[in-house]
Amino acid sequence: MEETFDFAVIGGGAAGLAAAVAAAAYGDRTAVFEKNNAIGRKISASGNGRCNLMNSGTLKYFGDSVFALEVLRAFPQNALKAAWEDLGIRLCEESEGRMYPCTFQSATVTDAFKIRLKTAGVRIFLQCPVKELRKENSLFLLSTEQGTFRAERVLIACGGSASPKLGGSESGYELLQHFGHSILPPKPALCPLTTDSKSISGLSGIRVKGGVTLKDADDHILQKENGEILFTETGISGICVMQTARQAEPGTFIELNFAGRIFTDREKLVQALMRRQQNVSDFGPEVILSGILVPKLAYAVLKQAGTDMKGRKAGDLSTDEIRKIAEKCFGYRLTVTGNRGLEEAQVTVGGVNCSEFDPGTMESRRIRGLHAAGEVLNVDGDCGGFNLMFATASGILAGLNGRKVLPL
Ligand SMILES: Cc1cc2nc3c(=O)[nH]c(=O)nc-3n(C[C@H](O)[C@H](O)[C@H](O)COP(=O)(O)OP(=O)(O)OC[C@H]3O[C@@H](n4cnc5c(N)ncnc54)[C@H](O)[C@@H]3O)c2cc1C
Repeated sequence: MEETFDFAVIGGGAAGLAAAVAAAAYGDRTAVFEKNNAIGRKISASGNGRCNLMNSGTLKYFGDSVFALEVLRAFPQNALKAAWEDLGIRLCEESEGRMYPCTFQSATVTDAFKIRLKTAGVRIFLQCPVKELRKENSLFLLSTEQGTFRAERVLIACGGSASPKLGGSESGYELLQHFGHSILPPKPALCPLTTDSKSISGLSGIRVKGGVTLKDADDHILQKENGEILFTETGISGICVMQTARQAEPGTFIELNFAGRIFTDREKLVQALMRRQQNVSDFGPEVILSGILVPKLAYAVLKQAGTDMKGRKAGDLSTDEIRKIAEKCFGYRLTVTGNRGLEEAQVTVGGVNCSEFDPGTMESRRIRGLHAAGEVLNVDGDCGGFNLMFATASGILAGLNGRKVLPL
């Protein structure tokens, strides 16, 4: 016999689980359909397993950003914090408004969801991808390998295409397209960059704190970030680098500033290098940067500065050469060739056109009872908890469907 639910959630990620909790609090017979063998795989991976759940600061969203702000006006940060606390999760705030569970373990979040869903009697169907969704009269029909299910309301919370290993797919877009919704093509955001091989040669594995400036082909600044930069086999990574991925097209440039944290301007570095030259004059030219940069990076900087190193010593460097080295310490240049793709992206740019949904209930303006929430929508946030925050806030609104939040 086909089972009927009041509310069927497709996708057991942050958006879907938050929605199920909110709806079940009202006694809605609720089911979650998840294609993976566990719920919350992306929650588990988030924030390096620490799970940066939300952000208390200024909202930073892209894509249909106005829609994202409307969602977070309808379910603001303080309400979200209260919802986490109601679920049993105490939050701690770190730098830049980043909020984590006080345990700093993502398992705390998935466990809290599991406990609450069980208490509320929410049915969870694992390894159960929804293959087809259609509407007959007033009921939705969900086709799965475990049977066909009926529901009065359905939430598509299938996430975006980013990170397929953790469940990312185009499935949500396809289900919504079937109902006439429009999709902006998915692209990677928050993703490591690939660069020309020459400027990263021998640097893989090196981490350095510094500034990242993204420039276009005409040398105009597109974006500036600060933080930890990680050199990889194919380019660069680190949060500050990944933040540039939505704009870093092939042919743009990245300039890395390794010296700005130590020296206020280039001239101060030139003076320091000239003093240092006297102390290390009998050593290799790259030793002039010892104490500022690790040897491999110092060598790369001298190479990019065009320093002739063959058979020479630090004491042989001219003032002009030292100036060029200082210049490269403030702007080590890499040519962007692309990024590591959706495979390694944390979030998707693009997705379902938000203007086709109501930001108060996440209900489709086309199909009554059909909702969408989370990353499947054309909203992506900065690093810092903004993506999980949008996913959970929009999920809760979908679960509530215009009702007030109700603790269990
Ligand atoms: C490595 C990594 C680290 C991250 N760190 C952070 C962070 O610290 N802070 C932050 O805010 N954001 C972070 N993000 C982004 C954040 O995790 C996501 O934006 C957020 O989890 C999206 O939630 P969602 O519920 O919309 O989608 P998802 O979490 O992707 O959930 C969708 C679920 O739907 C399932 N599904 C898809 N299609 C079907 C179908 N047809 N039938 C049944 N099930 C289906 C998928 O298997 C998946 O479980 C990170 C992402 C990654 C990959």
